[in-house]
Amino acid sequence: MRFPFTNTYSQLPPEFFERTSPLPVSSPSLIAVNDELAIELGIDPEFLRSDEGLSVLSGNQVPEGAEPLAMAYAGHQFGGFSPQLGDGRAILLGELHGKDLQLKGAGRTPYSRRGDGRSALGPVIREYLVSEAMHALGIPSTRALAMVESGEQVQREELKPGGILTRVASSHLRIGTVQFFAARGDHANLEALVSYAKLRHYPDLSGALDLLRKVIEKQASLIAQWMSVGFIHGVMNTDNMSLSGETIDYGPCAFMDRYDPAQRFSYIDKQGRYAYQNQAYIAQWNLSRLAEALLPLIDKKQERAAELARNELAKFPVLYESARLRLFSKKIGLPENPDWELIQSFLDLLEEQKADFTLAFRSLSQGRDALLSQIQETQSARSWLIRWEATGVSDPLLMDQVNPAFIPRNHRIENVIQAADHGNFTPFHELHEILKRPYSDQKEFTPYQDSPAPHEIVCATFCGT
Ligand code: AMP
Ligand code: MG
Repeated sequence: MRFPFTNTYSQLPPEFFERTSPLPVSSPSLIAVNDELAIELGIDPEFLRSDEGLSVLSGNQVPEGAEPLAMAYAGHQFGGFSPQLGDGRAILLGELHGKDLQLKGAGRTPYSRRGDGRSALGPVIREYLVSEAMHALGIPSTRALAMVESGEQVQREELKPGGILTRVASSHLRIGTVQFFAARGDHANLEALVSYAKLRHYPDLSGALDLLRKVIEKQASLIAQWMSVGFIHGVMNTDNMSLSGETIDYGPCAFMDRYDPAQRFSYIDKQGRYAYQNQAYIAQWNLSRLAEALLPLIDKKQERAAELARNELAKFPVLYESARLRLFSKKIGLPENPDWELIQSFLDLLEEQKADFTLAFRSLSQGRDALLSQIQETQSARSWLIRWEATGVSDPLLMDQVNPAFIPRNHRIENVIQAADHGNFTPFHELHEILKRPYSDQKEFTPYQDSPAPHEIVCATFCGT
């Protein structure tokens, strides 16, 4: 068998999903295959490049052993609850080595509502590049196995070439999956879901309260890692937050260039609900929704359940702040001397000077002069340098392991998408290669480190899927 599928999700009770099949496309072409990931999953990358491989990756053929389905979930979107969402443009084929294999953009499902179940090529490229970049940065993320151009057009603001992403995830269980059953008062399936989360992610899980605790720990660590590289998810709805603690659902996500805590990119996020500086707060808000959904399983006495859940939720800020302090201490090269005041005054300096977040941190390992090529030598810059140098212990090697030289910058992604929309994938492959080694200098690609010139700045990103 080409794909050694197991299908544990499809064994769950019928309320968890709808069986559905990908809808064929007319003339698909393969744009990218992730060889390393294919091998991890026990698939031959050469097979994926074959005609048969392409027909699987484009949804034209359901591979032997797959049990295609769309998963049910609910979710709070921008604060408002939708009891019925579900995979509207994604189809789970099955699991390989314990990981979900999903086609995103493979046609309508019973959960598509008014959507077409398709995806434009641009968002597929963005997800491919950014999810793989996150993985290379060492941040938990869903992965991209392959990308196909569908050969068909999709109607967005204008007609766009269509794309299909093959996504790999530890699972696609979301906070919204728990909310789906909680909102229906379906406690039997809520129990089944907790057991399933134990099977997939947390072998020593001891019940619903423990699940809450574990997801809180994972998410506190994840959001701290996002913050440490300037990543802005953009749509932190509860249906876009995984129980596994992987970054999931890359829509209008972006890395910030100049440091601005209020930065947001998503065109639809006018209020900045999901701005950089709000991400930890929003994560905690989402985790509170998870807690509410789990309450019926936590204790028969709801007051007691609420108290237990509140105690767990109260740990989130502590876990998050300590993870963030650890990461940023490494970023300024002082892992053994965590000093939030020193870190914060550096961030204040970057904000005041509108400096590039990534370049400024990366320069630190080269010392004073390198930093002063990124920021102006103001009085506050001088006094910060004096305090930093006075610690006398900064560790350049460590800094270069946590301060990336290369991030998937917005303007680069835009260029890649524009070229791809005209059939040129060379820029995609080049950027993808560079992003595989974000912490190496890769001197031949220095321009890819640069922040955008004023005319290149991307102010807004779109879901556009
Ligand atoms: P998102 O927050 O972008 O991950 O998606 C929110 C919900 O909208 C999910 O239930 C998606 O499956 C659904 N959705 C988004 N785009 C489409 C589309 N083009 N067709 C059908 N459903 C969609
Ligand atoms: Mg989503």
